Amino acid sequence: MPFIIAIDGPAASGKGTIARALSAHFGFHHLDTGLLYRATGAKGGDPVLAAQRLCADDLASPDLRSAEAGQAASRIAAIPEVRAALVEFQHRFAAQEPGAVLDGRDIGTVICPHAQVKLYVVASDQVRAERRAAELGADPAEMLAQLQERDRRDSERATAPLRPANDAVVLDTSTLSVQQAIEQAIQAVAKAR
Ligand code: C5P
Repeated sequence: MPFIIAIDGPAASGKGTIARALSAHFGFHHLDTGLLYRATGAKGGDPVLAAQRLCADDLASPDLRSAEAGQAASRIAAIPEVRAALVEFQHRFAAQEPGAVLDGRDIGTVICPHAQVKLYVVASDQVRAERRAAELGADPAEMLAQLQERDRRDSERATAPLRPANDAVVLDTSTLSVQQAIEQAIQAVAKAR
């Protein structure tokens, strides 16, 4: 049975960095599920059809990393039919041997509730806004407003809202270096193996 690591948390909490590091450390496949929603939003037109027709090539565009693509993603991510259309791809990805790391908003709660390890990665709003601003070369105050709007939409939607699974390990990266955050995540996984 493949080993599954589910990582959820708000935007710019550090979950992507941790997910990549865990996949490299344990030799597991990694899927940034935010890309599925970003690519669906970027396709334009009917979002349900866009999600149903999504293919691997759609995930490769560098434009998907922009703040605008993130906002568009969080709007279409609230549509239940869009989420339903993306479930099978994620389940197939998670079934790969020897294991998989998936990061997103609903991995531990909806997509892989039986994951052997669930991490819920958080950081203060201020720290997250500064990180995202540095990454995108943008204004921190503007990033803060955007992140808060996106988190609110992601947490308040009716279908698969952003929240920790009951058995998730919460990792607050606000005052941790990247290396410290990765080490704590590796320890949490090592305990469950
Ligand atoms: O993680 P990322 O910032 O790339 O995600 C973009 C948006 O996609 C999120 O704000 C959220 O609305 C949506 N998303 C989601 N479920 C996931 C991953 C992302 O709803 N598993």
